[in-house]
Amino acid sequence: MIARIKAKYPEQIAVLTQNVDDLLERAGCVGVVHLHGFLPEIYCEHCKKIEYIGYEAINAKEHICKCGCKKFRHNIVMFGEQAPFYKVLYNELNALRKAEDSLFVCIGTSGQVLDVADFARFAKNSILNNLDKSDIDHAFNKCYIEKATTAAPKIEADIEKFFS
Ligand SMILES: [Zn+2]
Repeated sequence: MIARIKAKYPEQIAVLTQNVDDLLERAGCVGVVHLHGFLPEIYCEHCKKIEYIGYEAINAKEHICKCGCKKFRHNIVMFGEQAPFYKVLYNELNALRKAEDSLFVCIGTSGQVLDVADFARFAKNSILNNLDKSDIDHAFNKCYIEKATTAAPKIEADIEKFFS
């Protein structure tokens, strides 16, 4: 659903995720912003060049960066580290706030790491989908407390209604 709706409205929709896996990409979603890093990537600790390795194991002793460095690490933001893509997040939140009409859709988060309840207040309309009720529900205009698989068609209809 996310890939389809993003393909239909590529300029109007931003897809940001806290997930580090490539499930959205595997579903065909383009332009996903991975706020907390991306598991299929490593980067050189010297020149910071990011390299896509997928989910294949690499021989750490023989793997050498073009800069000559042999020290790599996963491209995951660890607790307490700077998250470089938060800049994109804040730009998108600012766009939500400035827009005449805006919609913030949040799927599958407790809001413990990122304060999505606060983000919802930036948008004119907001939708939350979680499996269980939580204390962030009140911040959203609409809540689907159910599996994402059953909520997805409803959210897609909501998004289509928003754009119509
Ligand atoms: Zn390097």
